[in-house]
Amino acid sequence: MSMFNLIEEFDHEQVVYCSNKEAGLKAIVAIHNTTLGPALGGTRMWKYPTDEAALKDVLRLSRGMTYKAAISGLNLGGGKAVIIGDSATQKNELLLRTFGKFVEGLAGRYITAEDVGTSVKDMEYVRMETKYVTGISKALGGSGDPSPVTAYGVYVGMKACAKFRWGSDSLKGRKIAVQGAGQVARYLCEHLYNEGAEIYVTDIIEAKIKRVLETVKAKVVNPEEIYDTDAEIFSPNALGGIINNETIGRLNAEIIAGGANNQLEDEKVHGPKLLEKDILYAPDYAINAGGLINVANELEGYRQDRALKQAESIYEIITRVLEISKHENIPTYEASNKIAEERLLHVGRISNIYTGKSFFSGRLGELIKK
Ligand code: NAD
Repeated sequence: MSMFNLIEEFDHEQVVYCSNKEAGLKAIVAIHNTTLGPALGGTRMWKYPTDEAALKDVLRLSRGMTYKAAISGLNLGGGKAVIIGDSATQKNELLLRTFGKFVEGLAGRYITAEDVGTSVKDMEYVRMETKYVTGISKALGGSGDPSPVTAYGVYVGMKACAKFRWGSDSLKGRKIAVQGAGQVARYLCEHLYNEGAEIYVTDIIEAKIKRVLETVKAKVVNPEEIYDTDAEIFSPNALGGIINNETIGRLNAEIIAGGANNQLEDEKVHGPKLLEKDILYAPDYAINAGGLINVANELEGYRQDRALKQAESIYEIITRVLEISKHENIPTYEASNKIAEERLLHVGRISNIYTGKSFFSGRLGELIKK
C-alpha cells in the first residue's frame, strides 16, 4: 500500500519524517487528530524491520491516543512518534536532542513523552531542545512514574464494573486474579488489599512477586494458572493479546479489568465473544488512561493529588461504557469508541464558532494592530 493510502486509511492530519545523518536519526511523528487539543503521545524506539512497519506502528498508536484522550475527557489530541533503531545501542544525547529539535519545529502541535525504548532520562535530553515534552522526572518538575495514577484508575474502573455487575462497588471478599506484578500491578494490589479483596498474583519474575508481597497478602500462582483460578475478576497487567480463543474458555471471571494495553487479541472477534459470554470487559484504553491523565497534568504544573482526583473520573466513564454496551447490545470496546467519536464530533462542531480570537491572531492580527 502506498504511503499516502496508508495515511488516508488511518485518517491522519499530518505525518512528519525526521532525518539527520550525523545523529543517525530516522524518526516519524504522526499527528492523528488535534480536534481536542495538541497531539500528545510517547516516543517509541524500536528496531523496525522496515520503514513501512515503523509507519504502520506509528499510525496505529497515534490513532489509539486520539481515542484515549477523547474518552478520558482530556483536551488533547492523538499523536505518537517512533525512532527507528536499537534503543540498547543507538540511543545517545545527540540523537535525542536532534529529535527534540524536530518536535520543537512542530510548534506544539505534537507533545512527546517516554514510551517503549525511551526513558524519563531520555526525555530530559529531548527537553534541552523543546518545551513540548512531558513525562520528565519529578526532580525537574515533571510527573515521574505514571504507574500509581494508572493503578488508581484501574482500581476505580474495576469498582465501577463491580457496581454494574453486582450492585455494589465494594471489592471486600472478592477474589481477584492479577496477571503481572510490575509497576501498575504493585500499586493496584495495594488498593485491592486495603479494601479486603482476596488476591491471586503471578509474574514470570520472582523478585517482582516478592516486592508485591512486602505490602500485601496474596496467593501466588504460576503464570499459566492465572486463567484457571476461581477469581471473579481477572486483571491483566502484563502483556497484550491475553484475551483470546484459548483463554476466554478458561476464565471463570465475570469481569475483566486491568491496566495492560491491547488485551484483546482481536477486538472484532473477542469483543463480541465476551459479550456473548456475559463477561464485563473494561476497555483497556479507557481503564488505563490514568497514565495519560498523569502526564497531561504536567502541562499545568504537576500535582499528583490533582492527577489522582482526575483519574477518579474513570469510574463514571467505565459505567457509561457498560451502560451503552448493555443498552445497544454491543461489545464494550465498541461502546467506548462510540463515546470517544461522539466527543470528537461535538467538540469539532463548536470549533468553527467564530469567537474573534482566530481573526486577531497570527500575521493578520499583527497587521490589524498596526
Ligand atoms: P512492568 O514492566 O512494570 O510490569 C509488567 C510485568 O509483567 C513485569 O513484572 C513482567 O515480568 C510481567 N510479565 C511479563 N510476561 C508475563 C507473563 N506471561 N505472565 C505474568 N507476568 C508477566 O509494566 P507496567 O508499567 O506495570 O505496565 C503493565 C501494563 O500496563 C503494560 O501492558 C503497559 O503497557 C500498560 N500500561 C502501563 C501504564 C503505566 O502507567 N505504567 C499506563 C498505561 C498502560
